[in-house]
Amino acid sequence: MLVLKFGGTSVGSIENMTNVKNIIKDGERKVVVLSAMSGTTNALVEISKCIENIEVEDALKRIDTLHQAYLATIGELLEDDTLKNEVETYVETIFDVLTDSVNKLHTKLLHNTIVAQGELLSTFIFSRFLIQEGINAVLLPALDFMRVDRNNEPDNFYIKQNLNRLIGTVPKADVYITQGFISLDADGEVANLDRGGSDYTATIIGAVLKAKEVQIWTDIDGFHNNDPRYVNNTKAISNLSFDEAAELAYFGAKILHPQTVMPVRAFDIPVRLKNTMSPESYGTLITNEIHGEGIKAIAAKDNITAIKIKSARMLLAHGFLKKVFEIFEKYETAIDMVTTSEIAVSLTIDDNTHLESIVDELEKFARVEIDDFMSIVCLVGNTIIYHPDTPHLFQVLQDVNVRMIAYGGSNNNISLLVNTSDKLETLQKLHRYVFETRSVLI
Ligand code: ADP
Ligand code: ASP
Ligand code: MG
Repeated sequence: MLVLKFGGTSVGSIENMTNVKNIIKDGERKVVVLSAMSGTTNALVEISKCIENIEVEDALKRIDTLHQAYLATIGELLEDDTLKNEVETYVETIFDVLTDSVNKLHTKLLHNTIVAQGELLSTFIFSRFLIQEGINAVLLPALDFMRVDRNNEPDNFYIKQNLNRLIGTVPKADVYITQGFISLDADGEVANLDRGGSDYTATIIGAVLKAKEVQIWTDIDGFHNNDPRYVNNTKAISNLSFDEAAELAYFGAKILHPQTVMPVRAFDIPVRLKNTMSPESYGTLITNEIHGEGIKAIAAKDNITAIKIKSARMLLAHGFLKKVFEIFEKYETAIDMVTTSEIAVSLTIDDNTHLESIVDELEKFARVEIDDFMSIVCLVGNTIIYHPDTPHLFQVLQDVNVRMIAYGGSNNNISLLVNTSDKLETLQKLHRYVFETRSVLI
């Protein structure tokens, strides 16, 4: 079995849906995971915000605009009247759910239910399009098998049992379509795997089915060596190891949800990144194999807060760091970078939900300084820290205000903390040095 995931752009227009159909129609059995059509999840998030702020008229207007866009797409995509009627009826039920939610009390569950509608729409429409085109496709509702546990980890036993049971009811299908992103939580309520979560859905499914390969089809020809939204002349990387891909995704490379490689790396199931608009391009193959050395790619993660903790009493006296970390543990807040000196420890977090409580507790025994609007710029590559070119990086960045450096945490990663206002300059300077000035580092 193969698992193929198509992102928002890939199902965002009739032309691209036709490309997807051509990619999946080779007769090989596969699970196809779809995101919402591009722009839909953002629109649903906005609708949810309007409801939260009791902006009823604005919410209804946004729902209507989205509804009209879907009716237009269906009108163009489907020629078969029976299928078109079926899809129109389904779409009406989805927009009824949205309209009904407008006067409800805004809760987490209501928000999750609203944002889940995007994937429900795209998969229903696309599955009927495939049937119209003569492809033996069936729809498997993700909410009938995808679930996370109390630690927000995939409940693999439940997923495996239920997914196999569902596939067993329609064993002759060639293509099993399902929704990315959405899942149930441990209480059986509608939840999701966070923004960009369809990639994660695909690898969770790939792992439980022991798929031959998971393919992530998107709007670019693979994993690039820097963020193409901010830097010119970036290039696709042919091969990445699971470790490299995991570091880059965690540190902000938007092409992959941060957890994408976790479910499959233990089973050595390859992840291939491909471009729906250019299927002949090689893309990127992510496996356990290590290729090349030195700096392979650069990524950046925004919305970072730096916390400096200074103590009048001896900081590195034993037990101090434990006390600090226990506070972050108590508030379930992950720490990304840490540096220490004799009188202070600096660390970074990307989730400010409990910042106030954390600071209150730290201030009981230390002075605390907060810097926000920071970004982590992360350089990744096999044995990067030993590479002879690495020391020159600091020369390249001499005019950039680097607030923290993490070097040596792993052999494959160097992280720099900069003001977000300096991120672009940092990415561009590093890119010029690593991939343009230096002829061959990899
Ligand atoms: P999808 O909707 O298919 O999931 P995403 O928008 O989530 O697509 O991810 C693809 C986008 O990620 C690309 O269009 C590109 O702008 C952005 N991106 C950021 N960093 C990278 C990178 N290192 N390599 C490739 N794309 C990247
Ligand atoms: N539709 C969801 C989002 O926009 C999930 C995804 O695209 O992977 O975040
Ligand atoms: Mg994505």
